[in-house]
Amino acid sequence: MEFYTWVHEDKNKSTDQWKEDFNSLKENGFEGIFLGGDIDFLKKISPIAKDIGLEVQAWFWTLNVNNDEFVQKEHPDWFNVSRLGQSSLTDPPYVDYYKWLCPSKPEVTEYITEKILKILEIDSISGIHLDYIRHPDQYLPVGLLKNYDLEDKYYPEFDFCYCDTCKQKFKEQTGIDISTKENIEQDDDWFEFRLKSVIDLVNHISEKVHAKNKKITAAVFPTPDMASIMVRQDWSRWNIDGAFPMLYNSFYNEDTVWIADSIREGIFHAGRELPIYAGLYLPEMDITDFIEAIEFSIDGGASGFSLFPSDKITKEHISVINKLKIEN
Ligand SMILES: [Zn+2]
Repeated sequence: MEFYTWVHEDKNKSTDQWKEDFNSLKENGFEGIFLGGDIDFLKKISPIAKDIGLEVQAWFWTLNVNNDEFVQKEHPDWFNVSRLGQSSLTDPPYVDYYKWLCPSKPEVTEYITEKILKILEIDSISGIHLDYIRHPDQYLPVGLLKNYDLEDKYYPEFDFCYCDTCKQKFKEQTGIDISTKENIEQDDDWFEFRLKSVIDLVNHISEKVHAKNKKITAAVFPTPDMASIMVRQDWSRWNIDGAFPMLYNSFYNEDTVWIADSIREGIFHAGRELPIYAGLYLPEMDITDFIEAIEFSIDGGASGFSLFPSDKITKEHISVINKLKIEN
């Protein structure tokens, strides 16, 4: 059973503090981390974790480019467009940071792939961990709707992407002009087109990453079916080395049994050759839930776990992990 955690860049933390944190993760049974931050940070901090014996994958925000000023300034036309015709650059859905690139554009694929390969030149980084590798949320997890005062229904302002590239490519493939079609939320071809836009991007990146002998993994929505409907993310068709579904049961008003059921469903759709690691959301889980989630997920066939966020890992969690490692 392997344990990972997502670790954020923290400008206030000294090198010694990082060393202490990484040592503690290593001693407490963690195999690796997903380290998020800019390239200078990764260059500086990843060797420390690697020397301690942790595997380091770079935690990479893929299509959400809120922090990328270059692309916002130089390539506003790369951003996705809602069904209402609004660009996520100027009218981000839900929250200000929801600025997303359109995966159908070859120049976007090129740009993202180059950025990733640059990161993977760092020796101490063993792979790329894709996050936000999807379209924006067409549907939110039911437990989060109240935060945005929304109902569980279709909203055109959250439906992406209707940029000229997407419309033109879809027309070339199907002969259909999507802007004149009715009931497009139920259209199978249009649904598949958008799944495919993300599948093609991931599999392109995967080919390049594997050619450099590095790994590619991803943080994904709970099951391939849910992920496809909610965010056009059919990860069962991605060529990746590990899937880390965010099985944040509280977001879906579900209990811990649901976590294991989701793992089983993921294995059923993606096949046994794809290792699936249960992503657990610690803030809304007491220690009994945590123990149950771990036990049920192992029964469900999980290859391991990833805990979020790393600063919410307590001594209680650690003792559960240690006990598990001793027993196995
Ligand atoms: Zn588009």
